Amino acid sequence: MATKVYINGTFFDKEEARISVFDHGLLYGDGVFEGLRSYGGKVFRLQEHLERLYESALAIHLQIPMDIDPLAAAVNESLQVNKIDDGYVRLVVTRGVGTLGLDPAQTSDPQVIIIADRITLYPEEFYTNGLKLVTVSTVRNHPAALSPRIKSLNYLNNILAKIEGKQAGCIEALMLNHKGEVAECTGDNIFLVRKGGLLTPPREAGILDGITRQAVCELAVESGLKVQEIPLTRHDVFIADECFLTGTAAEVIPVIEVDSRRIGTGRPGPITRDLIQRFHQLTRR
Ligand code: PMP
Repeated sequence: MATKVYINGTFFDKEEARISVFDHGLLYGDGVFEGLRSYGGKVFRLQEHLERLYESALAIHLQIPMDIDPLAAAVNESLQVNKIDDGYVRLVVTRGVGTLGLDPAQTSDPQVIIIADRITLYPEEFYTNGLKLVTVSTVRNHPAALSPRIKSLNYLNNILAKIEGKQAGCIEALMLNHKGEVAECTGDNIFLVRKGGLLTPPREAGILDGITRQAVCELAVESGLKVQEIPLTRHDVFIADECFLTGTAAEVIPVIEVDSRRIGTGRPGPITRDLIQRFHQLTRR
């Protein structure tokens, strides 16, 4: 069956789903987005994702042309129309068609796009054996310039870091903030295990406030672990007992090496493996 893409209330065949070349989403990366997962036909933490989308939009002065409830319904409908139970949903809101100038006041009609698709995960071996990371020289966007909390259509900061990581042979890369502290990875948040508790950079480190990050913090607390959101350095990463990443697409994935330093035993650790289990149970509940 051909994929159906939602644009402003109408479903189009994939080939017919089109946006103007004058849309500022294309011309300037002016817009916001979300990536969501569905498990057994139900979207994981849909409300949280939509709230983050509206917050991103608010931060860039973009008025999403529909309310949160009808948008939630449209996301669910996109999955049903495409007969997808376990999948990935990309929700995009662009600034809309404008002139060639920057001014958003010269644009009209933000475009709401929903693409429901099958999910492509990191290869299974990385979940069993863990990932290797490198720290890249591309600094995470300064929060006072462009807050990483805005999930905007301009992902160049992350893309440049991803390219650097891949050049070093790693599929994910660690980014530091302007102060040299650990921020996050190109598309995932980072956690360390240290002396039986979890450490993760605070939102003020300049990170995306990850939905999976939040879910994992809740699961950790439930299981009796102490979770601290504190500024971290590369040194903290090197001396961690365990390390893992969280993200909508990646879920929870172990990290076993950073900048050629082995983390812990060099194998996915017991706390990471337990949290992976708990996260699976949560998504399939
Ligand atoms: N950081 C960045 C830069 C991201 O793009 C993402 C989402 N892909 C995450 C962290 C993880 O956030 P979430 O758990 O909400 O997917």
